[in-house]
Amino acid sequence: MISFWEKNSFLHYDVIIVGSGILGLSTACEIKEKFPGKDILVLERGIFPTGASTKNAGFLCFGSLTEILADIKSKGEQETISLVEKRWKGINYLKERLSENRIGYHCYGGYDLLDTPRSSAIREIDRVNALLRQIFDKDVFEVSDSRISEFGFNAELVSHMVYSPLEAQIDTGEMMKTLIKYAQFLGIQIINGAEVKEAAEGKVTVWHSAMDESIVFKGERIVICANAFVNKILPELAVKPGRGQVIITNEIEELKFKGIFHYNEGYYYFRNFGDRVILGGGRNLDFTKEESYDFSYNDMILEDLKSKLDTMILPGVNYKITDKWTGIMGFTENKLPEIKVIDGSTIAALSCNGMGIALSGYIAREIVSLL
Ligand SMILES: Cc1cc2nc3c(=O)[nH]c(=O)nc-3n(C[C@H](O)[C@H](O)[C@H](O)COP(=O)(O)OP(=O)(O)OC[C@H]3O[C@@H](n4cnc5c(N)ncnc54)[C@H](O)[C@@H]3O)c2cc1C
Repeated sequence: MISFWEKNSFLHYDVIIVGSGILGLSTACEIKEKFPGKDILVLERGIFPTGASTKNAGFLCFGSLTEILADIKSKGEQETISLVEKRWKGINYLKERLSENRIGYHCYGGYDLLDTPRSSAIREIDRVNALLRQIFDKDVFEVSDSRISEFGFNAELVSHMVYSPLEAQIDTGEMMKTLIKYAQFLGIQIINGAEVKEAAEGKVTVWHSAMDESIVFKGERIVICANAFVNKILPELAVKPGRGQVIITNEIEELKFKGIFHYNEGYYYFRNFGDRVILGGGRNLDFTKEESYDFSYNDMILEDLKSKLDTMILPGVNYKITDKWTGIMGFTENKLPEIKVIDGSTIAALSCNGMGIALSGYIAREIVSLL
């Protein structure tokens, strides 16, 4: 049984946040920075964050040329510009909060690799630059074909390359560890190993295995930032899981490129991490199987990633895959982030999709404006 002392001191908070990914922690920090007196609890099911925030590729990106063109086609110009602006603001809020030197930040730029079927995208550069000038105040994309051979890519598979000097990369693990430490420094309480089973009307229920009983925490406000796993708490919300596979190589002698790289409208992505190469993606090869909450591997996609390294990215280079992992993203129907008011005290922030590292700082501010 819970003691009088525990009931008195451990179970009541101003705000309870479910999930200690980048969005949950950014929201907690945003509240505490604005209202230092608020008592905030973050409940996390894993022994550390266990969703996408510690599993991603560490791109600080706002959308490659082909991804932006695909977004314009599906969402229209205004919606796309607004999304790019949110990502860009979010990137800057993250840097302001944690500082570049504590997140392993390097700005080597970003590149979009175009194969022959997508080559016509370069004819759209001027149009997209003109659209984005209202955000960046300058051109953000330029053709960079000379670097295809300089970087050692297979020119038979990469017809054109589009460069963006503003895109950067971080050390994902270092960033999340710094964010956790910063949240703790602000006085935010984080409880790990606490899987929330229910959340509504100012109450959050967690199974306390050591006591063999359910514990109910009470909060004036509850914010659910459980990404794809929100469905397990609120099944009525339309968020679908999307698994991402990632591989990393050994250190490669005289690796010829630095930067973040997008391919096939962002379905594939790779970057250098020092002298290693991190490559992920391929979900488009098996959408049905990849709509999964399961962290296991899809061998067909892993094979495809390896063949991309062999034939396109590192042709003729000796390398080894030293590690691999998967992470689970959350996708809304229109692929846009969404903040849903569930009841008078509960909000669910849904799905930063594949760009939550960029978006979370911005979405956190939107959440706090609603509390
Ligand atoms: C392979 C991969 C590569 C990616 N690459 C990039 C990239 O380069 N750049 C980029 O901007 N974005 C990238 N993303 C997307 C980005 O990682 C996510 O959008 C972002 O991390 C989402 O953050 P979040 O806090 O909303 O969710 P998550 O990080 O998923 O956090 C949700 C948290 O809630 C916890 N939780 C879930 N259910 C419960 C419960 N019932 N009770 C308690 N806790 C619970 C989970 O354990 C988890 O820690 C990538 C994602 C993946 C998977």
